[in-house]
Amino acid sequence: MKKRTFLKLAGAIGAESILSPLARLGAESGMPDKLRNWAGNVDYSTESLHAGKSVAEVREYVKKTEKLKVLGTRHCFNTIADSKDAFLSLTEMHDQPELDVAARTVTVDANMTYGRLAPWLEQRGFALHNLASLPHISVAGACSTGTHGSGEKNGNLSTAVLGLEMVTASGEVMELSSKIDRDKLNAAVVGLGALGAITKVTLQVQPTFAARQYVYENMPMEALNAHFDEIEAAGYSVSLFTDWRNKNINEVWVKERLGSGKAFEAKSEWLGAKLAKKNLHPIAALGAENCTEQMGVPGPWYERLPHFRMGFTPSAGKELQSEYFVPRRDAVDAIFAVGQLHEKISPHLLITEIRAIAADDLWLSPCYQQDSVAIHFTWQQDWPAVKAVLPEIEGALSPFAVKPHWGKLFTMEPAVLRSRYKKMAEFVELAKKYDPHGKFRNEFLNRYAFT
Ligand SMILES: Cc1cc2nc3c(=O)[nH]c(=O)nc-3n(C[C@H](O)[C@H](O)[C@H](O)COP(=O)(O)OP(=O)(O)OC[C@H]3O[C@@H](n4cnc5c(N)ncnc54)[C@H](O)[C@@H]3O)c2cc1C
Repeated sequence: MKKRTFLKLAGAIGAESILSPLARLGAESGMPDKLRNWAGNVDYSTESLHAGKSVAEVREYVKKTEKLKVLGTRHCFNTIADSKDAFLSLTEMHDQPELDVAARTVTVDANMTYGRLAPWLEQRGFALHNLASLPHISVAGACSTGTHGSGEKNGNLSTAVLGLEMVTASGEVMELSSKIDRDKLNAAVVGLGALGAITKVTLQVQPTFAARQYVYENMPMEALNAHFDEIEAAGYSVSLFTDWRNKNINEVWVKERLGSGKAFEAKSEWLGAKLAKKNLHPIAALGAENCTEQMGVPGPWYERLPHFRMGFTPSAGKELQSEYFVPRRDAVDAIFAVGQLHEKISPHLLITEIRAIAADDLWLSPCYQQDSVAIHFTWQQDWPAVKAVLPEIEGALSPFAVKPHWGKLFTMEPAVLRSRYKKMAEFVELAKKYDPHGKFRNEFLNRYAFT
């Protein structure tokens, strides 16, 4: 840690806790004297980091600070979380989750990760409706960017939000609940961090369930033409992985929810694909130790819905990611349109994942009022090469009014992006009400939302 940073923090938060937030963040990112994102492709533009330990402290800090950004678990690949001025970290808030069994809700600290929350819920007999591919991310960061898992009937993770506690620019605490302020909550949940510092999130829970997953290898891409709906309906959550080579879906992961009345019959062959005989990583060349158990072995929901296990590096580690949402009805055309670019994509790609997400009513969700399919790209960490191919993908998908994932890399012009969100202007108005002087805005938000 740089001496300058150490002293700044010492003044701000007292010696005992100095080492915790910044040292932890630095050590996690493998670069102790520099704050950066998980992938290491974004060095944040300031080292000024304040750890808020309580709502009172957060209020005081927000009130007196001219400009800041709240940091989650730093898993975004673009600069949405960056700040030139100051960061507020909530990793030092450690309240126990509050479970309301009758209402079937749990209220958690904003920075709690799904990886910590899920086993806690399981011990008490409850579950969340879905999880992303990895459990390492914070609840507030994930919901603020419309993070999703898979499953044609499953909304993204933000759709489980029934309430938010947020400190707005003036230092006031604002509480939004689905019962009283549904419209404002719909605006605030996928809020990109622009409305304030979220300190608590209330999530809908449901009785726990078990799941199991089967993986099929080498499904001809042609099968999507006639059978896309069948494939998507095969499980509670379905993921298609392809490297776009050989007109092939390399792996199909079917996650079956047990006891849902709809069993998946794992035949040895399905639509030309073969049932895998061992656990696989989505990138076939990598070992499956980091992956959740497959081969039809039942387990708790939180150890089957993500692809990657808590406590292990998710995905490939050294990588970049992009992801594009298209309407579900256009999914097959969109997939084949991207397939046309395979010679440009494959040399720089680790793997593509294709997932279905149900429509929702959250203003800045890419799935706003539209059943969607997301085409995701895990890239080699070569930004110049990726930057050259993204406009081609965005061009191929533009007939489908494509929207990029808020937390991943894209090159779309801001005006185009804004035009794809019916509620963008209303969102900006609301944000200006809560934050008239742009305290929580950064360059990314100014460029893509507020200009
Ligand atoms: C290996 C890997 C796998 C991934 N898999 C998926 C996937 O399966 N599906 C998917 O959709 N995405 C996926 N992502 C993307 C990732 O989940 C999202 O980018 C998500 O935002 C990460 O949350 P975070 O806490 O790390 O957010 P950060 O990157 O820390 O912050 C994101 C935004 O949220 C805001 N924010 C964070 N906390 C608060 C708060 N308390 N109050 C106000 N604003 C806040 C920040 O200011 C910023 O604007 C993956 C990323 C990685 C690295």
